[in-house]
Amino acid sequence: MSGAVGSTAGGGTKTGREGVPRHRVTLIPGDGIGPEVASAARGVLDAACPGIEWIERAAGSVALAEHGDLLPEATLGSIRETRVAIKGPITTPVGTGFRSVNVALRQELDLFAAVRPTRSLPGVPTRHRGVDIVVIRENTEDLYQGIEFAAGSPQAEALRDELRRIAGLDVRPDAGVTLKPISVAGTRRIVRFAFEYAKANRRARITLGHKAGIMPTSDGLFLRTAREDPIDHGDVELEDVQIDHLTAQLVRGPGRFDVLLLPNLYGDIISDLCAGLVGGLGLIPGANIGWEYALFEPVHGSAPDIAGRGVANPIAMILSGGMMLRHLGELRAADAVETAVDTVLREGAVRTADLGGSSSTGAVADAIVASLPS
Ligand code: NAD
Repeated sequence: MSGAVGSTAGGGTKTGREGVPRHRVTLIPGDGIGPEVASAARGVLDAACPGIEWIERAAGSVALAEHGDLLPEATLGSIRETRVAIKGPITTPVGTGFRSVNVALRQELDLFAAVRPTRSLPGVPTRHRGVDIVVIRENTEDLYQGIEFAAGSPQAEALRDELRRIAGLDVRPDAGVTLKPISVAGTRRIVRFAFEYAKANRRARITLGHKAGIMPTSDGLFLRTAREDPIDHGDVELEDVQIDHLTAQLVRGPGRFDVLLLPNLYGDIISDLCAGLVGGLGLIPGANIGWEYALFEPVHGSAPDIAGRGVANPIAMILSGGMMLRHLGELRAADAVETAVDTVLREGAVRTADLGGSSSTGAVADAIVASLPS
C-alpha cells in the first residue's frame, strides 16, 4: 500500500481546469476501519474538488509489516513535501510498549494544535440541541509526551533515587511513572492559536479546563500563562473551569460552551465526550495544525470491533476532508461537502448502524456525493 499512488492506484489523479493538479495531499489510510473510511472520503473529496493529487503512504501496523517501521521516513517525507495530509485512524496496541504512531506524527511534525468542532447535526436526535463547541487541544506536551519509566526498570529505580534525593519524595518501588511536562512556550503558542481561531471564527468565549489546584506546576502554569500572556483577546472572553466540573457542566448544558481550550490529555477525553453529545464518534472531524504542516483526521479510532465489515460511518472522515478543503482555500468545495453531509443526515434514509440505520460505508459516501450541490 505504500509508495506514491495518485495516478497508480485507486483511480488516478483528477486535475483542475488547467489540466494540472491544484493540490497535492498525502493520504494515510491507517488500519482497522481506516482504509474503509479513507476510501469513502477520497471519493467525496474528488467529487467536490477535482484537482487533488493523492500521495498514498503507510503508517502503523501496515507500515511495520511492509517496511519494518511504524512511521517510515517516506511517510514523514511525503507530508513534509505536500505539507497537507489526511489520515485514517491507526491502532495503538495497549500495554505493549508500542509507541503511538498518532502521537509520534504530531510530535515529529510539531502539530501543536488539535481542532475538533462538534455541532448538533440535522436528523441526529440527541438529548441536547444547539451544541456548537470547538475543542482546541494542546497536542505535544502533557502526559502524552512519552516520558515513561516502566515499573522495576533501572531507569525507574534511578528516578526514584533522584526524587528522594532532590525532593524527599517517596515513590513505591513497583510504580510505573509517566511525567507531565507543560511549558510556558508550549502553552503560549496554543493560547495564541486559540484566540486567533476564536477571533477569525467569530467565537465569543474560550473556556480553559484545568486541575490547577491539584497540579499547580503543570496545570497551574497552563492557567497562569493563559491569563497573563499579553496578547490581543479582541472581543473574546477567557474563563476557566476545573476539568471535573467542566465534564458535569458539559453533560448538563453544553449549549453555553463555545471554544474549549485544554491540555493534551483532557483534550483527548473531552473531545470524545463532546462527540457523544452530538451523536457519536462517527461524526466528529479533526485537524492537527502546526506552523508548517496540517494533518486532518477523525476523532475516532480504528474501531477493531467493526473493522472489515463495511459498516463504519465515514462522516467523521469526510468532514475531516471538508476541514482540509477549507485549509487549502477551497471554501466552496468545503461548504458543499458540509451541506451534502447535512442533507443526507436530515433525510435519514441512508445511514450507518451507529446512527440506527443499516447502510454501508460506501452507500453513505455515494449518497453524500449525490447530494453535493452542483
Ligand atoms: P474507537 O474510536 O476506535 O471506537 C470506540 C467505539 O466507537 C467502538 O464501539 C467503535 O465501533 C465506535 N466507532 C468509532 N468510530 C466509528 C465509526 N466511524 N463508525 C461507527 N462506529 C465507530 O476507540 P477505541 O476502541 O478506544 O480505540 C481503538 C484503537 O484506535 C486503539 O488502538 C486506539 O489507540 C486507536 N485510536 C487511534 C486514533 C487515531 O488514529 N487518531 C484515535 C483514537 C484511538
